[in-house]
Formats: sequence, structure tokens, C-alpha cells
Amino acid sequence: MVMALEGQIWEPEHEWRDDSACAGTDADVFFPPSEDESLAMAAKKICGLCPVQEQCLQYALATNQTEGVWGGMSSGDRRRLRRRMRDRDRRKRAS
Ligand code: SF4
Repeated sequence: MVMALEGQIWEPEHEWRDDSACAGTDADVFFPPSEDESLAMAAKKICGLCPVQEQCLQYALATNQTEGVWGGMSSGDRRRLRRRMRDRDRRKRAS
């Protein structure tokens, strides 16, 4: 979520933030108080319209964001994605 980046050191690779669909949105929408997936739906709808969804998700994965909705995925979604990626890598190494 772009607002979570505020306060961090600006780096050129963060320029995708300029095109985010969530700029100016209440942070509570993207950081719901629990992991109840229904609470993440409003944020996911905004992400679905966002032109930088892929960059946002890659950033969240690369920086291990454990809270909030990033790139259209909740924290639970990202955990499951990471698990699938780890499993895929293990299978690749074993073959
Ligand atoms: S994908 Fe979602 S959280 Fe990421 S910048 Fe776009 S609207 Fe914000």
C-alpha cells in the first residue's frame, strides 16, 4: 500500500507510486484490523483498477510486507503465494 511507503527513503524504483489508484485513500481500507478476508475486499477492488498492481505486489514480496493489502493481495494471499513459490522452487531443485 503506497501510504505505507511514506517516510521511507525515496528510491527511483519506487516511482510506480506516482500512478497508484490508492493515493489519498484512507489507510484503514488497506490495513484492516484483522485478517478477515471480507475486510480486504474494498482494497482489492481498488487494486483491481490500479495500473501499477504488478509493481506494487513485487515490491511487497521483495520487502516482505506482512501487513495490509498490496498489489491486490491480502497478507494471507501473499503468504499462500510465497508458499507456492517455495514449493515450486523445491520441486525444481529436486528434479
Ligand atoms: S495495487 Fe493496490 S495497494 Fe498497490 S498501489 Fe495500486 S491500489 Fe495501491
